[in-house]
Parts: sequence; C-alpha cells; structure tokens
Amino acid sequence: MQNKEKLLEQLKTSIINFEPKDKETILNAVKFAEKCHKDQLRASGEEYIIHPISVALNLINMRADAEMIIAGILHDVVEDSPVTYEEITKIYGEKIANLVDGVTKISKLKASNKSEQNAETIRKMLFAMIKDIRVIIIKFADKLHNMQTLEYLPKEKIKRIANETLDIYAPLAGRIGMGVIKNELENLALKSLKPDIYDIIDDYIVKNEMNIETTLDEITKIIKCKLGKKEIPFAIKSRPKHYYSIYKKMRKYDKKIDEIFDLFGVRIITDTIDNCYFIFGIVHSIWMPIPGRFKDYISSPKHNGYRSLHTTVLVEKRKAVEIQIRTEEMDKVNEYGVAAHWFYKEDSTPKVEDFDWLKNLMEFNKEGLSWEDYYNAIRDDILKEEIYIFTPKGDIIELPKGSTPLDFAFKIHTDVGYRCKGAKANGNIISLNTELNNGDVVDILTGAKPNVKLSWLAYVKTNHAKRKIKYALSQINQESQFAKKKETKEELKEDNKDKNITIEKKTQIKKVKSPKIAVEINGEKNLLFNFAKCCNPSPKDDIIGFVSRGRGIIIHKADCKSLKNIKDFENRKIEVNWTE
Ligand code: MN
Repeated sequence: MQNKEKLLEQLKTSIINFEPKDKETILNAVKFAEKCHKDQLRASGEEYIIHPISVALNLINMRADAEMIIAGILHDVVEDSPVTYEEITKIYGEKIANLVDGVTKISKLKASNKSEQNAETIRKMLFAMIKDIRVIIIKFADKLHNMQTLEYLPKEKIKRIANETLDIYAPLAGRIGMGVIKNELENLALKSLKPDIYDIIDDYIVKNEMNIETTLDEITKIIKCKLGKKEIPFAIKSRPKHYYSIYKKMRKYDKKIDEIFDLFGVRIITDTIDNCYFIFGIVHSIWMPIPGRFKDYISSPKHNGYRSLHTTVLVEKRKAVEIQIRTEEMDKVNEYGVAAHWFYKEDSTPKVEDFDWLKNLMEFNKEGLSWEDYYNAIRDDILKEEIYIFTPKGDIIELPKGSTPLDFAFKIHTDVGYRCKGAKANGNIISLNTELNNGDVVDILTGAKPNVKLSWLAYVKTNHAKRKIKYALSQINQESQFAKKKETKEELKEDNKDKNITIEKKTQIKKVKSPKIAVEINGEKNLLFNFAKCCNPSPKDDIIGFVSRGRGIIIHKADCKSLKNIKDFENRKIEVNWTE
C-alpha cells in the first residue's frame, strides 16, 4: 500500500529541477485530479489519486516532459468524472487536453472477443502514436502502475489483463525501443500468471546474489587492470537477466533454473564507438568467447534503434557471462527508446517512415482484413520476437522468429520471392523450409521466371509472404481456367494446327482440375489438391493433407496406413477440412 503524502513528496523532489511555472502546474493538476476523483477508490481500497500520482512518477522515470506529467496526472479524469475535454483545454491548454483524450480513447474499447479487442487496442495505439507518440508513453506509465497493483483484482480479470500485457503492451514497448518498460511489464505479468515460477527464480537469484557479486567483482577487477593503462573511461553495471527471459529459457530448453548458465549479464559503458570495439577486443583476449554469441548491433542497429555489442564469454569453467558494450548515449536510448530520442530532440512526433514496422501496420490497415486476420498478422509479423538476417551485401532484414529463406526472399522484394529457386545461409545451401538463425547471412538464388509452389504455403511463417503466395497461386488458377475456356473453343473449331501444344494444355488442365467435392485447406478454398488413391477418402471421413512436391496437396484419410511410410510426413502435413 502506498502512502499519498509520501508519493506527493516524492513527486515534489523529482520535479525540483523543472521550471517554476511547470512545477506549479503539475502540483495544481494533482489538486484538480484529487477533486475529480474524490470519493473514488482503487481496487486496493486506496484513495484513487494514488494511481495518477504513481503514473506521473513512472513518467518521470521515463524522462517525460512537464506536459506529459500533467497529462499523466489527469489521464483518468475525463473517463471517470464529469470533467470534459473542453474544461481541460480551458485550464491546461489544447496540447495537454489532446494527450488526455488520446489516453482515454485507447482505454475505451467495444469489442466482443479477445482478438477483436487486441486488434482494436493496437489500432488505437497506432493512431494515437502517429498523432503524438507521447500518448503511448503515458499509456505505458498507466499500464505499469495497473500491473504493479494487479493483485487486488478478481482472478479472472488478473489473467486477462496479464495476458493482454504479454500479447500487446510488452511487445509494443519493445518495438519502440523501451526495453526497460518491456522487461518490467513482462516480469509483472509473469508474477501474476505464474507466481510459483516467479518465486523460484526470485529465490534462486537472491540466494546466489553473493556468489554472483563475487564473480562480477572479479570481472570488473580484471577489466580495470587491463584498461587502466590505456586511460579509457568506462563503467560497469551488472544485474540478473530479467525474470521473464529466464523463465522463457527454462521453458524453451525444459531446464531447471540451476541449469540455465547465463543468469546475469555485465554491461560496460564507455565514451566512444571506437572504445566500444577496443574494449570488446580486450574482453575476448581475456576470456574465451562462446561461438555464435557475438552480435554487433552498433554497425547494424536493431530497427527499434537498439545499439550495443553483445558477446558471451566463459569466465570460469561452467560460468558464462553475457557482456554488453555500448556508449552512454546508446544505453539511454536502449532503455527508453523513443522517449529518449524525443528527450534529446525538439520534434517529438515520429514519422511513419522512421519505422519500418509502422509502415507495415499501415499496410495491414489498408487491406481491409477481418479482425481475426488483422490481429494474427500483427501478432505474427510485428509483435513476435524478431531475428536479424543479413543480405550478402550486409543489409539487415528484420523477421519474426521462426522465419525461413522464403520469408526473407519476400521481405526483400515480392519479385525475389516469386522467382526464388533456392537459398544459401552462411555459404551453405539450405532447404527453403529451414528456420533461419539470428545473424545468418542469407543469399537467395533466383530463376528467370516465377517459381511459386503450393508447398511454399507450409514453409513460410510471415503473413506477408503467405498473402503474396496465395495471390500468385490464385493468378495461376485463373490463368489455367482461362486456358481451359480457350481450349474448349479451340476444340469446337477443330483448330488443330498445333496439336502438341493442345495436348500439353490438356494435361495441364487435368492436373489443375479439382475434384467436385470441396475441401478447405488451412482456411483456404480454391487450392490445388488430389485425393490419395490408397485410401480414397469420402466426405465425413477424417482427413489430413500432405504437401507433395509438384502435385499440390494430397488428401488422405487421417488414419491411412500409408502415411507412416511417407518420409517427412510430420513436417509437410497440413490441416484440411471438408466444406459444405
Ligand atoms: Mn489509469
């Protein structure tokens, strides 16, 4: 439970360096909000004003300006009291009123199901963001305090809110580069959803803190000793990895916490980029680096602006430590992302062109997708954890985790996707359904003509590539239908001038012709398929599809015995359903 007076004191101290006029308005806003929320209580039983003051304090931590802090204090006033937008404009001006209005609009949702609600939230956040990025940051500050006080809500609500945080808010925070907020939101969600696991991690970290500290002291000493003579300024920060990422590792590798080796990381902060690389060299000369763990996000920054060098070294036999090396400015931007950028620059509004993913989001908006598709597309292509793949020229392409060379090809250019014949990763030929790894250098081999295959649908992970492939397949279908009509006419005319070509067309059409019974494949009708001769399924049988090479999808009875003999069946099976 928070004490109102204490929080207010904290607020006063943290705005001590603000302009006198701003200080006055901030404190005046607290009084105003207190009046508006009079008689209202939080679920915790506390006076409501505790919430807006806490939001303001969160904002101050995020380096927010006076306008944001004031809007943060007023953010629930329009929604929860009779005060109107016009009144706020009158007292605090249009800019602050617009910020409050933006936050209020994100909170007001009329959705009937989860994906519709998630899609709607994202859409609203997006529009708010394009108007004024600061609205999102206030929303994060609000979300953060709500997550910190989640325990007072009914169980069902806790679950829904914590899941929504993991689905939308945390990934979005990561997207705009607010790493600190993303980590904290994820930790809080873990604490609410899996309290037992959270406690196990917490206990372990606390118990091993001494141990960890000794190791870190050692590391610091050694680096200091090596750098001391060179007069390079540096500072070392260290802390355990955030709990949610530890939890994800435990789950991914099915390991207990004492089997996870890099539980904590060291951050070395210096003054210039040159010195970052210099220190990096020193680190590798002292300890043995673990192969494949070096990442240079300085020469190739992440799309959210993140810059740093990463490497993992073995400091003792089984003790691996991740070391991050960066300048002080990078460190600020990495933690507070857009907020830090905006803190340093005059113009606060980001342009859509500055964010590749924002451009993608806008594209989704234009396509008139259903709620379900819209949300799936955003979740899979934009909010999913990302990997960074290099072109042979060294350009960096961002893709969701699990992407294949085909996703990469379509991301480079639709035409490269269509003409893709094969791919190389780090110089070796790989199959088109290979999952790419962070940092791979991928070269797409293309032919002169489009080469789109139905089986590709099972290979790609991004909705972007899927849509392009489906479109190409539908064009091919139309062409073959066109060819069929043309051919019938030709037959009528008995125009057999070029018999060979006609025969070729006939066989083509035979292949494309679908059986009369309709089947839906992955929700998609109008795709090329054939029924397997071995089991010859009929409607009402349980069925399963197999993505063949060159013959489209072969549909078997789900219990067909020959499936066992098909090599690679598990990787190439696809869900199919009878349609009415
Ligand atoms: Mn609120």
